[in-house]
Amino acid sequence: MIKVSQLSKKFGDLTVLKQICFEVQQGEIVVIIGPSGTGKSTLLRCLNYLEAPTTGQITIGPAEVDASHASNKHIHQLRKQSSFVFQNYALFANKTALENVAEGLMTVWREPKAQAMATSQAILEKVGLGDKLGQYPAQLSGGQQQRVGIARAMAAKGEVILFDEPTSALDPEWVEEVLAVMQQLAQEKQTMIVVTHEMQFAREIADKVIFMEGGVIVEQGPPEQIFEQPQSERTKAFVSRAT
Ligand code: ADP
Ligand code: MG
Repeated sequence: MIKVSQLSKKFGDLTVLKQICFEVQQGEIVVIIGPSGTGKSTLLRCLNYLEAPTTGQITIGPAEVDASHASNKHIHQLRKQSSFVFQNYALFANKTALENVAEGLMTVWREPKAQAMATSQAILEKVGLGDKLGQYPAQLSGGQQQRVGIARAMAAKGEVILFDEPTSALDPEWVEEVLAVMQQLAQEKQTMIVVTHEMQFAREIADKVIFMEGGVIVEQGPPEQIFEQPQSERTKAFVSRAT
């Protein structure tokens, strides 16, 4: 359902991603691990065209973009196929939890307000925030804010949710409740690509793990391979340090 081929990204002279290729099937959970500065966030951002890749092809569901001749129409179609959960939540401070979730449904998908609000309320109830609909982000804990961030991504009607270190800005006490919501999504077979440093979680939740270093995919495979029998010395060194 998702196919990335020969994706590269340069910032000026700095090549941050080199020839990235991978596929994700519907309902799969792919976890990306690797040292910081390796290009993990840039890769996720390219998938959503928050950054334009320098070369390569991205297919997500019905949308397909080739970086060498990407039209605005194709980019717009691609963007609608994924939604982002950011490390720092990136909620609108002047909107309530409910409005934050409903916003994209009204602007991107042009849903009538009443319908968008009803859908958003149901999703917030699902992530355990049915009693926080009218609260502003500043009135919520970090864990609650990130659950609003996930609810917003769930409301989007794209094929895949992209998570960029969703728990790394959280106080330790809020990590579990956010991981629990992600577990719940996994059980519902929501397709997800997750960048995380939570190795235990990665091992439990992933169908496939991608280890990146220095802008390349060093190794990809099932979690048992990456964590127990890595084929590459570089993977081995990273997982033994990280776990
Ligand atoms: P990771 O998420 O694995 O920590 P990033 O994707 O954030 O890595 O960054 C990869 C590299 O790209 C780093 O060297 C970073 O400094 C560089 N980089 C990221 N964004 C930009 C940008 N907008 N302009 C220039 N360099 C960038
Ligand atoms: Mg990052």
